[in-house]
Amino acid sequence: MLPATRSCLTRLNSPASTLMRLRIHEGLRPNLGRAMFSSFSQPRQQQKPVQASLIEKTLTKNPKPLVADKDLIFGHTFTDHMLTVPWTKSDGWGKPQIKPYGPLSLDPSCSVFHYAFECFEGLKAYKDANGKIRLFRPNMNMARMNASTQSLNLPQFNGDEMLKCIEELIKTDKRWIPSKPGYSLYIRPAVIATEPTLGVHESRSALFFCICSPCGPYFPTGFTAVKLFANTERVRAWKGGMGNRKVGGNYAPSVLPQVEAAAKGYQQVLWTIGEDYELMEVGTMNLFVYWTNEKGEKELITPELDGTILPGVTRDSILKLAKSWGEFKVTEGKINMKQITKASDENRLHEVFGAGTACVVTPVKAIHFKGKDYDVPLNPNDPSSETGPLTKRLYDTLSKIQYGEIPHEWSITVD
Ligand SMILES: *Cc1c(COP(=O)(O)O)cnc(C)c1O
Repeated sequence: MLPATRSCLTRLNSPASTLMRLRIHEGLRPNLGRAMFSSFSQPRQQQKPVQASLIEKTLTKNPKPLVADKDLIFGHTFTDHMLTVPWTKSDGWGKPQIKPYGPLSLDPSCSVFHYAFECFEGLKAYKDANGKIRLFRPNMNMARMNASTQSLNLPQFNGDEMLKCIEELIKTDKRWIPSKPGYSLYIRPAVIATEPTLGVHESRSALFFCICSPCGPYFPTGFTAVKLFANTERVRAWKGGMGNRKVGGNYAPSVLPQVEAAAKGYQQVLWTIGEDYELMEVGTMNLFVYWTNEKGEKELITPELDGTILPGVTRDSILKLAKSWGEFKVTEGKINMKQITKASDENRLHEVFGAGTACVVTPVKAIHFKGKDYDVPLNPNDPSSETGPLTKRLYDTLSKIQYGEIPHEWSITVD
């Protein structure tokens, strides 16, 4: 900041002088004018941070009947309450409210409806054998959400305080967390832009909200390996894009390729990029390949975080676990379809799986690429098995940590 600029500004502090301030800045430093203007246009009063101590709770007068475990379909049932925290550019974060679950009332001009001004998170609450509520590395979700809001010029928040608010919601709806093994409460926080204007510009108001949905195991009758269709026409994300952010705009365009793959008999899309068809992700999961690489080494490899890959909490946990075992090479790097098909032909491909919060891991049994199916082995010692041994071991270890059966710093109790 130039000292001269500062003294100009102390004299120009009425709202009517806003435009003048901009001119002054542009005059002084043409390239920095915009950035400087935005910091000067901040209101004089401090933007309020999220404060969990201010939570206002209104309990429902009509608690809903619980849905039987066997009838739970992912994302169909919601608990009795939700959390909302409003934000405005002038005041910052408002009072967190826990209130009966129900529709939001929003002006149809709100930018969330027109320009995908939205980002979200997905994590789970688990009930352990002692009936305690557990979360798995939730601070990673808070940090990732702040990275997403930052990319959309939506507000950031103090992750610890926001997590306290979410924990209060989960405790309020504790009776909705199923206690059967493999069952959990899926937690969906989101931030939307709520400024009711059609201009494509930053939103001066936003809403954080969080809803919860009880859910069963992704594979209720044990693992079912999936077939992937390598999409060679569309890309999910690209360098400099938003692939590493959980922003709503990334997901709607992924549905048609998914529907087309399903119509051909493939359950998931394998996203690739570039002339070499580098592997990216599987549907909305991170991708892992366990193989004997070209140097003859056993290696677990997942695409590196080059900006096109969603930095999954499950991905990071798998990498750390596998490294701690020290039994094979663990790599974040590049791997392309040519390497996969060659490894498949030479029997060097051992296991392929997707990884994410919803499923933990999803075993893959085949990959379709340019007109041909390449088989991926599952368990060579058990032809009836629907999962490879490493995939299963990772699933078992992570699940036990999540349910508190293996004590680990990643799993925290909430109540
Ligand atoms: C959410 C998500 C994942 C998995 O992330 P987790 O934190 O492990 O649940 C992977 N890929 C995409 C595209 C995602 O949206």
